[in-house]
Amino acid sequence: MKSHKKLPVDPPDELPSEPPKYSLEGRRVVELNVLSEGLWCPMCQLCLSLKNTVGEEIRGLASVLRVKCLKCNMITDVHTSKSANIAKNVVKMYDVNCKMAVGKYPA
Ligand SMILES: [Zn+2]
Repeated sequence: MKSHKKLPVDPPDELPSEPPKYSLEGRRVVELNVLSEGLWCPMCQLCLSLKNTVGEEIRGLASVLRVKCLKCNMITDVHTSKSANIAKNVVKMYDVNCKMAVGKYPA
């Protein structure tokens, strides 16, 4: 009868480590209706959580939060203020920044 020798088992490959979570610290000026509309995954239509924010781009008083969906791992850009394109291929103009510039903030 053939003996079964135990072969050394390779240690399991290390699981890919999660990217470090982005630390949402400090204060932001947020339009709640804009934020709540943006916190949805466009792929699986699930609610996103700010706890899963992986990055942020600050644009004056506005921010674009990059939030990861825990189901499909898609990263969604979530805006904190209404914005408008002032010209093709130009950075968006955020309402909150416009109001601050003309002295209408808070309003
Ligand atoms: Zn998703």
